Amino acid sequence: MPIQICFTCGTSYPDAPEPPSRCLICDDERQYVPRGGQVWTTRERLASGHVNAWRNLEADLFEIHTHPGFAIGQRAMLLRTSEGNILWDCISLLDDATEALVRGLGGLRAIAISHPHYYTCMQDWGRTFDCPVYLHAADANWVMRPGPAIRHWEGETLEIAYGVTLLRLGGHFSGGSVLHWADGAGGRGAILSGDVVQVAADLGRVSFLWSYPNMMPLSASTIGRIADTLTAWRFERVYGAFPGLQVTADGARVVKRSAARYIELLAGSQP
Ligand SMILES: [Zn+2]
Ligand SMILES: [Zn+2]
Repeated sequence: MPIQICFTCGTSYPDAPEPPSRCLICDDERQYVPRGGQVWTTRERLASGHVNAWRNLEADLFEIHTHPGFAIGQRAMLLRTSEGNILWDCISLLDDATEALVRGLGGLRAIAISHPHYYTCMQDWGRTFDCPVYLHAADANWVMRPGPAIRHWEGETLEIAYGVTLLRLGGHFSGGSVLHWADGAGGRGAILSGDVVQVAADLGRVSFLWSYPNMMPLSASTIGRIADTLTAWRFERVYGAFPGLQVTADGARVVKRSAARYIELLAGSQP
Protein backbone atom coordinates (compact mmCIF):
# COMPACT_ATOMS: atom_id res chain seq x y z
CA MET A 1 0.00 0.00 0.00
CA PRO A 2 1.34 3.45 -0.77
CA ILE A 3 2.49 6.13 1.67
CA GLN A 4 0.03 9.02 1.32
CA ILE A 5 1.50 12.52 1.00
CA CYS A 6 -0.52 15.72 1.52
CA PHE A 7 -0.31 17.82 -1.64
CA THR A 8 -0.62 21.10 0.28
CA CYS A 9 2.04 20.65 2.98
CA GLY A 10 4.05 17.59 1.88
CA THR A 11 3.48 15.65 5.13
CA SER A 12 3.50 11.86 4.77
CA TYR A 13 1.01 9.58 6.52
CA PRO A 14 1.23 5.84 7.24
CA ASP A 15 0.52 3.52 4.33
CA ALA A 16 -3.17 2.82 3.95
CA PRO A 17 -5.45 1.74 1.11
CA GLU A 18 -7.17 5.14 1.19
CA PRO A 19 -5.74 8.57 2.03
CA PRO A 20 -6.63 9.96 5.49
CA SER A 21 -9.83 12.02 5.64
CA ARG A 22 -7.87 15.11 6.75
CA CYS A 23 -4.34 16.41 7.13
CA LEU A 24 -3.90 17.56 10.75
CA ILE A 25 -0.99 19.82 9.77
CA CYS A 26 -3.18 21.63 7.20
CA ASP A 27 -6.19 21.78 9.56
CA ASP A 28 -4.09 23.85 11.98
CA GLU A 29 -4.27 27.67 11.64
CA ARG A 30 -0.57 27.77 10.72
CA GLN A 31 -1.42 26.03 7.43
CA TYR A 32 -4.62 25.84 5.37
CA VAL A 33 -6.85 23.46 3.47
CA PRO A 34 -7.29 24.48 -0.19
CA ARG A 35 -10.74 25.63 -1.27
CA GLY A 36 -11.31 22.52 -3.34
CA GLY A 37 -10.47 20.23 -0.41
CA GLN A 38 -7.47 18.16 0.54
CA VAL A 39 -5.55 16.43 -2.26
CA TRP A 40 -3.15 13.50 -1.83
CA THR A 41 -0.30 12.03 -3.79
CA THR A 42 2.18 9.17 -3.42
CA ARG A 43 5.97 8.98 -3.60
CA GLU A 44 5.73 7.32 -7.01
CA ARG A 45 3.45 9.99 -8.49
CA LEU A 46 5.56 12.77 -7.00
CA ALA A 47 8.77 11.30 -8.45
CA SER A 48 7.20 10.88 -11.89
CA GLY A 49 6.57 14.62 -12.30
CA HIS A 50 9.25 16.31 -10.19
CA VAL A 51 13.02 16.44 -9.79
CA ASN A 52 15.35 17.86 -7.18
CA ALA A 53 17.73 20.64 -8.19
CA TRP A 54 20.98 21.29 -6.33
CA ARG A 55 22.76 24.55 -5.71
CA ASN A 56 26.04 25.19 -3.92
CA LEU A 57 25.35 28.04 -1.45
CA GLU A 58 28.88 28.30 -0.07
CA ALA A 59 31.73 25.88 0.65
CA ASP A 60 30.27 22.72 2.24
CA LEU A 61 26.64 23.82 1.97
CA PHE A 62 24.19 22.62 -0.70
CA GLU A 63 20.55 23.53 -1.24
CA ILE A 64 18.18 20.78 -2.48
CA HIS A 65 14.90 22.03 -3.91
CA THR A 66 12.07 20.27 -5.76
CA HIS A 67 11.00 21.41 -9.26
CA PRO A 68 8.37 22.23 -10.23
CA GLY A 69 7.54 23.58 -6.79
CA PHE A 70 5.74 21.15 -4.50
CA ALA A 71 3.66 21.78 -1.32
CA ILE A 72 5.15 24.57 0.85
CA GLY A 73 8.19 24.82 -1.42
CA GLN A 74 10.98 24.87 1.16
CA ARG A 75 14.53 23.80 0.48
CA ALA A 76 16.51 21.19 2.37
CA MET A 77 20.22 21.82 2.92
CA LEU A 78 23.10 19.39 2.98
CA LEU A 79 25.88 20.57 5.26
CA ARG A 80 29.28 18.87 5.05
CA THR A 81 31.33 18.55 8.24
CA SER A 82 34.49 16.65 9.18
CA GLU A 83 32.22 14.26 11.08
CA GLY A 84 29.83 13.58 8.21
CA ASN A 85 26.97 15.23 6.36
CA ILE A 86 23.92 16.76 8.02
CA LEU A 87 20.61 17.25 6.23
CA TRP A 88 18.87 20.36 7.55
CA ASP A 89 15.11 20.43 7.06
CA CYS A 90 13.50 17.94 4.74
CA ILE A 91 11.49 17.68 1.53
CA SER A 92 8.98 15.08 0.36
CA LEU A 93 10.83 13.98 -2.78
CA LEU A 94 13.67 11.51 -2.31
CA ASP A 95 14.21 10.11 -5.81
CA ASP A 96 16.90 7.78 -7.13
CA ALA A 97 19.07 10.63 -8.39
CA THR A 98 18.98 12.41 -5.02
CA GLU A 99 19.81 9.19 -3.21
CA ALA A 100 22.77 8.54 -5.53
CA LEU A 101 24.08 12.10 -5.15
CA VAL A 102 23.82 12.06 -1.34
CA ARG A 103 25.58 8.67 -1.25
CA GLY A 104 28.27 10.07 -3.55
CA LEU A 105 28.88 12.81 -1.00
CA GLY A 106 29.26 10.22 1.76
CA GLY A 107 25.67 9.65 2.95
CA LEU A 108 24.17 11.34 6.01
CA ARG A 109 25.30 11.38 9.62
CA ALA A 110 22.04 12.97 10.81
CA ILE A 111 18.91 14.81 9.77
CA ALA A 112 17.60 17.74 11.84
CA ILE A 113 14.36 19.59 11.14
CA SER A 114 13.28 23.06 12.24
CA HIS A 115 9.56 22.37 12.79
CA PRO A 116 6.64 20.11 11.76
CA HIS A 117 5.89 21.84 8.42
CA TYR A 118 9.11 20.30 7.10
CA TYR A 119 8.82 16.79 8.58
CA THR A 120 7.49 15.69 5.15
CA CYS A 121 9.06 12.29 4.29
CA MET A 122 11.83 12.37 6.92
CA GLN A 123 11.04 8.72 7.76
CA ASP A 124 12.14 7.64 4.25
CA TRP A 125 15.27 9.81 4.29
CA GLY A 126 16.22 8.44 7.74
CA ARG A 127 15.68 4.84 6.66
CA THR A 128 17.48 5.23 3.33
CA PHE A 129 20.58 6.77 4.90
CA ASP A 130 20.34 4.83 8.17
CA CYS A 131 20.70 7.94 10.30
CA PRO A 132 18.83 9.59 13.18
CA VAL A 133 16.27 12.34 12.59
CA TYR A 134 16.43 14.98 15.34
CA LEU A 135 13.15 16.73 16.19
CA HIS A 136 12.42 18.85 19.24
CA ALA A 137 10.32 16.91 21.78
CA ALA A 138 7.95 19.86 22.30
CA ASP A 139 6.50 19.14 18.83
CA ALA A 140 6.24 15.37 19.25
CA ASN A 141 2.44 15.46 18.79
CA TRP A 142 2.92 16.71 15.22
CA VAL A 143 4.62 13.54 13.98
CA MET A 144 1.98 11.98 11.70
CA ARG A 145 3.99 8.91 10.76
CA PRO A 146 6.20 7.51 13.52
CA GLY A 147 9.43 5.80 12.50
CA PRO A 148 12.47 4.19 14.14
CA ALA A 149 14.88 6.93 12.99
CA ILE A 150 13.12 9.70 14.93
CA ARG A 151 14.94 11.03 18.02
CA HIS A 152 13.13 13.61 20.12
CA TRP A 153 15.58 15.93 21.83
CA GLU A 154 14.79 18.06 24.87
CA GLY A 155 16.19 21.25 26.33
CA GLU A 156 17.43 24.38 24.57
CA THR A 157 20.52 23.25 22.62
CA LEU A 158 21.91 20.04 21.14
CA GLU A 159 25.29 19.70 19.42
CA ILE A 160 24.83 17.07 16.70
CA ALA A 161 28.36 17.35 15.25
CA TYR A 162 31.38 19.44 16.17
CA GLY A 163 30.39 23.09 15.66
CA VAL A 164 26.84 22.18 14.54
CA THR A 165 24.28 23.00 17.22
CA LEU A 166 20.49 22.96 17.24
CA LEU A 167 19.00 25.93 19.10
CA ARG A 168 15.42 25.79 20.22
CA LEU A 169 13.83 29.21 19.73
CA GLY A 170 10.11 28.36 19.82
CA GLY A 171 7.74 30.95 18.33
CA HIS A 172 6.22 29.57 15.12
CA PHE A 173 6.13 26.15 16.87
CA SER A 174 6.89 25.43 20.51
CA GLY A 175 9.88 23.29 19.56
CA GLY A 176 10.87 25.53 16.62
CA SER A 177 14.64 25.27 16.16
CA VAL A 178 17.44 26.67 14.04
CA LEU A 179 20.85 25.20 13.28
CA HIS A 180 24.00 27.13 14.19
CA TRP A 181 26.99 26.29 12.03
CA ALA A 182 30.16 27.70 13.56
CA ASP A 183 32.30 27.14 10.42
CA GLY A 184 29.76 28.76 8.07
CA ALA A 185 30.52 31.99 6.22
CA GLY A 186 34.25 31.27 6.27
CA GLY A 187 34.30 30.77 10.06
CA ARG A 188 32.14 33.81 10.90
CA GLY A 189 29.15 31.52 11.53
CA ALA A 190 25.78 30.89 9.91
CA ILE A 191 22.26 30.09 11.02
CA LEU A 192 20.04 27.76 8.99
CA SER A 193 16.68 29.05 10.11
CA GLY A 194 13.71 27.36 8.39
CA ASP A 195 10.52 29.31 9.18
CA VAL A 196 11.59 30.01 12.74
CA VAL A 197 13.58 33.08 11.71
CA GLN A 198 12.20 33.88 8.25
CA VAL A 199 14.43 35.77 5.83
CA ALA A 200 12.33 38.52 4.24
CA ALA A 201 12.16 39.82 0.65
CA ASP A 202 14.43 42.67 1.71
CA LEU A 203 17.45 40.47 2.34
CA GLY A 204 18.56 42.82 5.10
CA ARG A 205 15.55 41.89 7.23
CA VAL A 206 14.08 38.83 8.90
CA SER A 207 10.65 38.24 10.40
CA PHE A 208 8.82 35.88 12.71
CA LEU A 209 5.20 34.74 12.43
CA TRP A 210 2.83 32.36 14.15
CA SER A 211 1.18 31.59 10.79
CA TYR A 212 2.79 32.47 7.46
CA PRO A 213 -0.08 31.56 5.09
CA ASN A 214 -2.62 33.27 7.36
CA MET A 215 -0.29 36.16 8.28
CA MET A 216 -0.70 35.96 12.07
CA PRO A 217 1.95 37.54 14.30
CA LEU A 218 3.80 36.40 17.40
CA SER A 219 3.80 38.33 20.67
CA ALA A 220 6.38 40.97 21.54
CA SER A 221 7.64 38.88 24.46
CA THR A 222 8.23 35.87 22.17
CA ILE A 223 10.12 37.98 19.62
CA GLY A 224 12.20 39.51 22.41
CA ARG A 225 13.06 36.10 23.80
CA ILE A 226 14.07 34.73 20.37
CA ALA A 227 16.31 37.73 19.71
CA ASP A 228 17.87 37.49 23.20
CA THR A 229 18.59 33.78 22.75
CA LEU A 230 20.42 34.45 19.49
CA THR A 231 22.67 37.16 20.96
CA ALA A 232 24.79 34.41 22.53
CA TRP A 233 25.67 33.01 19.07
CA ARG A 234 28.03 34.40 16.47
CA PHE A 235 26.78 34.42 12.88
CA GLU A 236 27.24 36.39 9.70
CA ARG A 237 24.69 34.65 7.49
CA VAL A 238 21.10 33.47 7.87
CA TYR A 239 19.80 30.90 5.38
CA GLY A 240 15.98 30.94 5.35
CA ALA A 241 13.56 28.26 4.25
CA PHE A 242 13.19 29.32 0.61
CA PRO A 243 15.59 29.50 -2.33
CA GLY A 244 17.21 32.90 -2.73
CA LEU A 245 16.28 34.05 0.76
CA GLN A 246 19.47 34.47 2.75
CA VAL A 247 21.06 37.28 4.70
CA THR A 248 24.65 37.22 3.49
CA ALA A 249 26.26 39.77 5.81
CA ASP A 250 25.85 41.12 9.32
CA GLY A 251 23.26 38.44 10.19
CA ALA A 252 23.34 38.88 13.97
CA ARG A 253 22.73 42.62 13.66
CA VAL A 254 19.97 42.07 11.07
CA VAL A 255 18.13 39.73 13.47
CA LYS A 256 18.48 42.15 16.37
CA ARG A 257 17.32 45.17 14.34
CA SER A 258 14.40 43.28 12.74
CA ALA A 259 13.19 42.00 16.12
CA ALA A 260 13.36 45.48 17.65
CA ARG A 261 11.34 46.96 14.77
CA TYR A 262 8.73 44.18 15.01
CA ILE A 263 8.25 44.87 18.72
CA GLU A 264 7.98 48.61 17.99
CA LEU A 265 5.24 47.99 15.42
CA LEU A 266 3.28 45.75 17.81
CA ALA A 267 3.43 48.56 20.34
CA GLY A 268 1.77 50.87 17.81
CA SER A 269 4.66 52.94 16.54
CA GLN A 270 3.74 53.15 12.86
CA PRO A 271 4.99 56.23 11.04
ZN1 LIG B 1 -1.19 18.90 4.86
ZN1 LIG C 1 6.22 26.69 9.03
